[in-house]
Amino acid sequence: MQPELPFNPSQLFIAGEWRGAQQGETLPLENPSDGSTLCEIARGRLADVDAAVAAAQAALDGEWGRTSHAERGRLLSAMSRKVLEQLDMLARLEALDVGKPLQQARADVLALARYLEFYGGAADKVHGQTLPFAQGYTALTLREPHGVTGHIVPWNYPMQIIGRSLGAALAMGNACVLKPAEEACLTALAFARIAQQVGVPAGAINVITGLGEEAGAALASHAGVQHISFTGSVATGKLIQTAAAKNVVPVTLELGGKSPQIVFADADLDCALPYLVNAGIQNAGQTCSAASRILVQRQVLDAVRERMAQRYRALRVGSALADLDLGPLISQRQKVVVERYLALAQGAGPRIVAQGTLAPDAPRGGHYVRPTLIDELPPTHVLAQEEVFGPVQVLIAFDGEEQALQIANGTAFGLVAGVWTRDGARQMRMARGLKCGQVFINNYGAGGGVELPFGGVKQSGHGREKGFEALYGFSVLKTVAIYHG
Ligand code: NAD
Repeated sequence: MQPELPFNPSQLFIAGEWRGAQQGETLPLENPSDGSTLCEIARGRLADVDAAVAAAQAALDGEWGRTSHAERGRLLSAMSRKVLEQLDMLARLEALDVGKPLQQARADVLALARYLEFYGGAADKVHGQTLPFAQGYTALTLREPHGVTGHIVPWNYPMQIIGRSLGAALAMGNACVLKPAEEACLTALAFARIAQQVGVPAGAINVITGLGEEAGAALASHAGVQHISFTGSVATGKLIQTAAAKNVVPVTLELGGKSPQIVFADADLDCALPYLVNAGIQNAGQTCSAASRILVQRQVLDAVRERMAQRYRALRVGSALADLDLGPLISQRQKVVVERYLALAQGAGPRIVAQGTLAPDAPRGGHYVRPTLIDELPPTHVLAQEEVFGPVQVLIAFDGEEQALQIANGTAFGLVAGVWTRDGARQMRMARGLKCGQVFINNYGAGGGVELPFGGVKQSGHGREKGFEALYGFSVLKTVAIYHG
């Protein structure tokens, strides 16, 4: 199905203008629901990245660099309102491009609008300090933009990640070069069009579509870029950090996880159940903070298993526009990866407890897998250690609090954790003992949590996005000491 696009997807957005890639090349963009080609996108390369970085620098030296904090806030707020005006169109684009059910795509549009609203409101509220210092001096700090910031965004939540990353960077006065994923980049282009519609100065936002190893690598290693934010795989994150190190520029890395939800015997299971399952199957499990491990205190293992199984049996998978519980995976490549993991639960492997069903009218050629709940397995099993990035959850039994912590912390990742218990003292002990960036007690995900700093430890990455904290990450502190006698 060809989407009706209000822009030409085979053009890049550089210096406030739409133009084809310098070498004139394009790439097909696939519809993961049926495998058809949605459209052609521009294949940006080094020369295009050079032009985008130069445009961003020119914006900093020109109109954008002179734009006041308050005016930056007004522009972001205006973008937020425009996003809401275009809700239906943006949701449809994201659904077609990523393969996510329409309702989930709508939630992502609302999240994008909320990020822009939040950072629009915050743009003139970040300030330095005056510092007590030696006699005869006044010392103060100033918060300044890094300069040109590079944003390399994955395919799973393009709008949300663009909102949290560019929203904060623009609020602090940086000029951005955005490289969306080659698998899903239409809403990045729609975002550029919205910036243009509300009058964001030329060059403050530039969008280069293309391949990771071409446009992405060129951006990550560009000497004119002063900060890189990246969300995606651990392997690519390492390449990006290495490239940034060569230019001695800071990076924010958000690299996924193997997040646990920990259910104690005293938990309110009625309340927990929807969170346990949804956090594993949302976006077909292609979520960095997916709760792919469900740790259950042994006394309630049977009850949790049975109730999750009921929910799994009711899950339906189909095309994005059919708007069922799950859509397809992003690509055939991703499907192969997930199926390889599922094959570990055959034969002598751990038992499959329950699976969802594929809708009979799901188009052939779509990259569908059935959501799968896997029975109790040892915490060291590959399925309990590696990020599957598909709709697969495993059950792990534990006896006491200490063991729950050991298992929860016993992977290479540390992004998010959920804890379900009515015991207040235990809630605090768990929150302190878990090695990860966010802990949710008696909830999970907190509805997206635009206000809540987000990021990982260990292989989940470093740096914090979302909330006010991101504004510090997207700025540098300058100290000024004035001697006046
Ligand atoms: P990836 O990390 O390779 O791609 C993410 C982004 O990085 C895309 O924009 C891509 O174009 C870009 N990129 C790729 N290679 C690059 C390079 N050498 N230099 C600069 N940029 C580059 O992820 P993928 O290959 O699309 O997915 C593979 C796995 O990554 C998934 O199975 C999943 O485990 C993980 N992943 C995690 C997240 C997350 O939200 N943390 C998102 C997507 C993928």
